[in-house]
Amino acid sequence: MTNLNIDETITLLQELIRNECVNPPGNELLSIKSIEKFLSKKGISCKIFQSSENRGNLIARIKGSANGPSMMFGPSHVDVVPIEKPDEWIIPPFSGENKDGFIWGRGSFDMLFMVAAQCQAFAILHKEKFKPKGDLILAIVADEEVGGKYGCKWMVDNHPEEMKVDNAVSEFGGLEISENKLILPYAEKGVIGLRLTFKGQSGHASMPYGKDNSVEKLSEAIIRINKYKMPYTTKYLKHLAKGLGVGFIQRMLLSRKLLLPLALKILQKTNPVMAGKLHSMSRTTLATTIIRGGQKINVLPGSSSVDIDCRLLPEQDLNYAKKHILKALGKKLAKEVEITIIEDSLDVAGSESPLDTEFVNAIKRTFQKLIPNSSIVPVISYGATDLRFIRRNGGNGYGFCLFESGEDISDLAHNINEKIGIKTVELTTKAMYELAKEYLG
Ligand SMILES: [Zn+2]
Repeated sequence: MTNLNIDETITLLQELIRNECVNPPGNELLSIKSIEKFLSKKGISCKIFQSSENRGNLIARIKGSANGPSMMFGPSHVDVVPIEKPDEWIIPPFSGENKDGFIWGRGSFDMLFMVAAQCQAFAILHKEKFKPKGDLILAIVADEEVGGKYGCKWMVDNHPEEMKVDNAVSEFGGLEISENKLILPYAEKGVIGLRLTFKGQSGHASMPYGKDNSVEKLSEAIIRINKYKMPYTTKYLKHLAKGLGVGFIQRMLLSRKLLLPLALKILQKTNPVMAGKLHSMSRTTLATTIIRGGQKINVLPGSSSVDIDCRLLPEQDLNYAKKHILKALGKKLAKEVEITIIEDSLDVAGSESPLDTEFVNAIKRTFQKLIPNSSIVPVISYGATDLRFIRRNGGNGYGFCLFESGEDISDLAHNINEKIGIKTVELTTKAMYELAKEYLG
């Protein structure tokens, strides 16, 4: 394999971190221009699609030589989330410092290292005059962290032909969950914000007797929703149960539907983080997060509400969520509740891509080339990524990169002291390069 130019990739990554494309407002055009400059130095032309002032998306393409299937590096986003506790960072959050084998800074992990690795892999393939059977597309986008209105969603809505692709790879995959078992996210849950409102009699709080109290109804509703047993499925746990490297009994508990509640109960004691993950992967969840009631202590409020962060499995929709909320509330409260979608909340359906495809086989072969004896563990992710727009546009999407064995990423995304291992940047560049050759060569 050719020289991976790791120093140059790191320099690009540092530049992307230092551009501070914090969303909102994003200002992603800055990083899009950095990438344009990086590519043009290598004689690669690209198209920039400006979606708003200072915001834009970039497409570069190596044309397919035959009518083979196409592949996309991306959609990969250059925006990052804001810094909440700057004092708790051990290095300035936008320094992009290279220290102890890591590049530090906001966005280093989510997901600028993948952007840099994909740009570099694309550039190397271009330099080698790689002739893919179908198009190889590099798609770098804005606005993923706030829903894609100026990024991937905008591209799919306004330039669907540019985003048309058979298979796309984006954040994140290739993490070792047990020896030589690498995760492959192939599905993701949907998200919707719902508000439950109860009306009641307002009046002076000195005479609560006999009043139809909205706060009382709301309290009961919240308790009922939290106690409600949502139907569950082991569909998204099967692969994981095999891949976790757990013993036979635990594996059986996780993959047999009737035994799952018991398995979660046991896990809750020994590994509560894993229990929480498996719980979320097996059902639609309703989390009551924000409550609103009166404004003044001596006034009974005429209305009270609770906001629910609802995460749906791919085959379930808003009606499914509503049906179960009403069931949870019971007849009396169900008659009184008003359920609305929260304005400006994310409203996305879950989505998934098939596993028995030539592309997934190419991913397996790529991993095996880089990590001998490795195998994939398909998983559903509980957060939304831009891959949902690719799926909506008719393509398949998978989380794909390659982390250095043992790299702990569990607490990095959107957190303080975000960092990425230089070895991981190198491995991911290599993985992108090899996958393109494997699938398009
Ligand atoms: Zn991300």
